Amino acid sequence: HIRPVPPGDALGSRPDGRLPPSGASGDRPDDPASPYDVVVVGSVNADLIVRVDRRPAPGETVFGGDLAVHPGGKGANQAVAAARLGARVALLGRVGSDANGEFLRRALSGDGVDLGHLLETPGPSGVALITVGPDGDNSIIVSPAANGRLSEDDVAAAAGLLDRARIVSLQLETPLATVLAAARAAARVVFNLSPPAPVPGELLARCDPLVVNEHEAEFLLGERGAPDRQARALLALGPRSVVVTLGADGAVVAEPGAVTAVPSPRVAPVDTTGAGDAFTGALTWRLSRGDDLVTATEFAVRVGAASVRKPGAQGSYPYLEELKVL
Ligand code: ATP
Repeated sequence: HIRPVPPGDALGSRPDGRLPPSGASGDRPDDPASPYDVVVVGSVNADLIVRVDRRPAPGETVFGGDLAVHPGGKGANQAVAAARLGARVALLGRVGSDANGEFLRRALSGDGVDLGHLLETPGPSGVALITVGPDGDNSIIVSPAANGRLSEDDVAAAAGLLDRARIVSLQLETPLATVLAAARAAARVVFNLSPPAPVPGELLARCDPLVVNEHEAEFLLGERGAPDRQARALLALGPRSVVVTLGADGAVVAEPGAVTAVPSPRVAPVDTTGAGDAFTGALTWRLSRGDDLVTATEFAVRVGAASVRKPGAQGSYPYLEELKVL
């Protein structure tokens, strides 16, 4: 059954407008054995964005607007989302030895992400070439470059980091073998199956939760369906828990014995780019603080909703203080 969560005011889903509590056990005291709340293993990209009236056909040249360069990549986005909320975050990833690598490092460190495990690969950093059409529609080419060199050896070298982290957050913009190795080393895995690709059952079985949007859910299941049914069917594939994000409709949480709908606050969306990463970064942080999954999801939908009110990905992610006053 679906146990609906009552909708609240704009972004404060609690009647008293306060942030949700951090779980039955309350905030954990800082644990010296665990210097990070969240370790993200994932991609770091420079997003190169140009607005176009239309996209060129093969062999054709069109003019576009001014180039905008923003820090991106799913791993970096999730790390920044969590760090802005106050999480102690380390990022295991790779950037290139080029100017983009320097730019990406500066952006991450400006947001307080620990870069002690951000490695450098000679050559280019990962890049996403993004054209934005007149309707705000995106077409994206990703060049993984340094992200594609993040290896199982890199994970093995960071074993002390991963096994002490409360949560390890994974996505699929780095090699699958690397993601699987990180999942094996982690105490608890939050895995965002994005971009969608086939993954072994062992990886799914380690997820707590598996986080997917509706398209990724359809990819895994091979069919569309009502969100609660999709979430339940995904749980049957082996993860310990599942969260399906539903854009403006919030999210559905599936755990053994319970499926829970979590509505999103109503906002006027400006740009939904990176909303899923904002959601996942927020979710991992709250889980690391001891929230149960539904409570963490109630918080994460607020962060996702806040992020669509501003343009861009990382640039749109809220600080905890902003969330309180919204
Ligand atoms: P993206 O690919 O754009 O990063 P996604 O498809 O992975 O996003 P969504 O399900 O679209 O993920 O959004 C994640 C969360 O962000 C939602 O659960 C919701 O909380 C919030 N969100 C997204 N779009 C809206 C919207 N239009 N209004 C309110 N909240 C939204």
